[in-house]
Amino acid sequence: MSGNLIISLDCEGKWGLFNKLGSTKKFTNKGLLNTYSKIQNLLDVYDFSATYAFVSAFLLKENEKKNFSCFFEKNEAYSKSLKVYNSLGQNEKAEGWFLPEVLDIVNKSTNEIACHSFSHLAFDEKIEKKLIINELENCHKVAKIKKLEFKTFIFPYNIIGHQELLKNYSFLGYRYHKKNIKNFYFKILNFLQEFNIYQSIKKYAKFEEGQLIKIPGDFFFNWRHKMRKALVPQSITILRWKNLLKKAVDEKLTLNLWFHPHNLISGPETYKVLEEVLGKAAILRDQGKLNIITQLDYVKIINQNNDKKIN
Ligand SMILES: [Zn+2]
Repeated sequence: MSGNLIISLDCEGKWGLFNKLGSTKKFTNKGLLNTYSKIQNLLDVYDFSATYAFVSAFLLKENEKKNFSCFFEKNEAYSKSLKVYNSLGQNEKAEGWFLPEVLDIVNKSTNEIACHSFSHLAFDEKIEKKLIINELENCHKVAKIKKLEFKTFIFPYNIIGHQELLKNYSFLGYRYHKKNIKNFYFKILNFLQEFNIYQSIKKYAKFEEGQLIKIPGDFFFNWRHKMRKALVPQSITILRWKNLLKKAVDEKLTLNLWFHPHNLISGPETYKVLEEVLGKAAILRDQGKLNIITQLDYVKIINQNNDKKIN
């Protein structure tokens, strides 16, 4: 057995930044589409698979929106992001919220199209079940319209909760992430990890009967923006990832490199670093030491090892 690398992308346009719209001015439909093409072209160079997890509203065409009253009826807008979206003027709604053309670029047999909620509602345990069900029902509707099958889930904000409801919608696994503590010290500690070139990869309890599979997911790809851009040299990020890849190979572990495609718009230098890191991964893959897999592949591997059949 070799090590595994998963590349997972949180695809959401403006939905995940609805409370910071000022920072999304560059998220035009054209700009976003170019970015997705650029990422897919890079993956194609190395023949790499990836998991693209969508805020499913983002995939809707104009004529498909009519099936979702939450975009039109004030009291049907059940999440904060839907409320913000509904309050915008026509001009402000035109860019960055819907990008159905993106599927033509990324929906190919080598990739997995996964789910990142419908409107980027946090799946916090404090959020009423009813709202979570609304969100999952809408994801299910989008999947039907688009003829997709969502099998793995990426929680908005990496806030993990309501897993038992996910099971009702045929999900098999979710990207696991350590708890995000929103305080200053945690942020600093987290930031300092960017300099830790000897980071370890956590081992997971891989299979629990009747539970969704936890897909490893602790590694956010350094986004070259603001503090990270100013203080973390590119060479450190590349060295850190080189060591992480080596560790995945040596210890036969799974590494999940994740980011938002829009990070490449806010921090264009991210692309160069990504290109370099994927190049190193390609060398290891060509040497037979590293498999490039999707989140769904990971779930299948774990389930197969436990003799569980997957539909
Ligand atoms: Zn997100």
